[in-house]
Amino acid sequence: MVSTKPHAILLPSPGMGHLIPMLELGNRLLTHHSFHVTVFVVTTTTSGILKLTSKYDNLNIILVPSHDVSTELEPNRSVEDRIVSTMLHSLPFLRSQMLSMNPSPSLLIVDIFGVLAFPLARDLGMLTSVFFTTNAWLSALTIYLPFMDKEMQRRHTNNHEPLFIPGCQPVRFKDTLEVFLSPVEEDLLKAAKEIVAADGILINTWQDLEPAATKAVREHGILGRFTKGSVYPVGPIVRTVELKPDQDHVDRHAVLNWLDRQPGESVIYVSFGSGGTMSEGQMRELAFGLELSQQRFVWVVRAPKEGDACGSFFDVTNNGGEETVGYLPEGFLRRTEGVGVVVPAWAPQIEILGHPATGGFVTHCGWNSVLESVMNGVPMVAWPLYAEQKMNGFMLSAEVGVAVRVEEEGGVVCRERVAAAVRRVMVDEEGLAMRNKAKELKVSGENALSKFGSSYKSLCEIRKDCELRLL
Ligand code: UDP
Repeated sequence: MVSTKPHAILLPSPGMGHLIPMLELGNRLLTHHSFHVTVFVVTTTTSGILKLTSKYDNLNIILVPSHDVSTELEPNRSVEDRIVSTMLHSLPFLRSQMLSMNPSPSLLIVDIFGVLAFPLARDLGMLTSVFFTTNAWLSALTIYLPFMDKEMQRRHTNNHEPLFIPGCQPVRFKDTLEVFLSPVEEDLLKAAKEIVAADGILINTWQDLEPAATKAVREHGILGRFTKGSVYPVGPIVRTVELKPDQDHVDRHAVLNWLDRQPGESVIYVSFGSGGTMSEGQMRELAFGLELSQQRFVWVVRAPKEGDACGSFFDVTNNGGEETVGYLPEGFLRRTEGVGVVVPAWAPQIEILGHPATGGFVTHCGWNSVLESVMNGVPMVAWPLYAEQKMNGFMLSAEVGVAVRVEEEGGVVCRERVAAAVRRVMVDEEGLAMRNKAKELKVSGENALSKFGSSYKSLCEIRKDCELRLL
């Protein structure tokens, strides 16, 4: 008998920031929208990814045999090049698996690096969708890329003029992405062209968080005229399972017990994502800044790294261990005893952000961290490190009003600036306004996801498109 349920294939590219929202999207399609769901997980490393996927045991997850691209690419190639190469190697396996599936797959959902699989999906008569595991503003920039005035791009790169995207905030040069520092590469343009030709574009955001950019990507006459398919805000899709590093803590993490003993909204949580790192000098300034702020803190400390803020992008378990505290300034732990807790390498972030004692978050502005903060009503100190994080930091501070942005001077954020930003969020009147705004957004995000909320409806529409295809 032919199944009436559409079968969605999800193909996240390597990196936790892509994998987590994709698994969560799969979960929603399965539990709230009656899809068959298969997720292909392309791994470059094993333990952390395997641990994570095992938490989603209701999903049909197929691990794509790993391929070590490091032997084929020159060592100085970018993370993006490594991802693209890894994805390319996965296509033959994907094809053979999808050909033998029952029910036949009807929809392929990929993130930006997975568009390489679109020709294969079209060959098999499937609908194609891109899931931007990021905000509407960056999605708008990517969608607009193939249509962007080359002269504006040149002036952006050479004269540091802003990039203008219809209906959105201009992108200041100081917040620009690495790819705009030199002429935009052919590969990225090709990917952007595939995205605008997709049958659907999903974005991990919702209207109230980004009113202008969401309108710009959705409405025909603005950016909508550039895309073939519809654009669907489906967020906020945030992680619902616990992520842990190598060892499984059977007991509750000690940091949560410490938080239990602190007053409400009195602790600032400091963490730079699954792989973000900073230089040793910057780490010292951060430590002294926390001390100067005189606020309670939980700080996830990772071994410093000079000149590579991206850290261990591919392997979240490779973040350093207990020895990382050895990089802290002399006497720091003694002086801050009782006031702060240093957690080496990895902390239970969702639980920390959801704890009543947590009142602020110093974050690198990875989109998952941003959504997790907002969905716990926690205001932020925006401290972007790489990729689109600077755009996120600008948006959160200047547009949405839920964050204070720290600025570098001479490549470092000095201790006084760290302390001032922390106090603005934790102590000052404006911090209260940011907290109230974050709490408002939390409610509106929950509404967007609830039955017949805007994001729920988006997924219903996608299902309808698949049903039409099945007829
Ligand atoms: N995370 C965590 N504990 C940590 C650091 C990170 O649980 O100590 C989780 C965090 O909750 C989020 C993800 O790792 O779900 C990081 O994703 P994000 O997009 O914020 O940043 P990325 O790691 O992709 O730079």
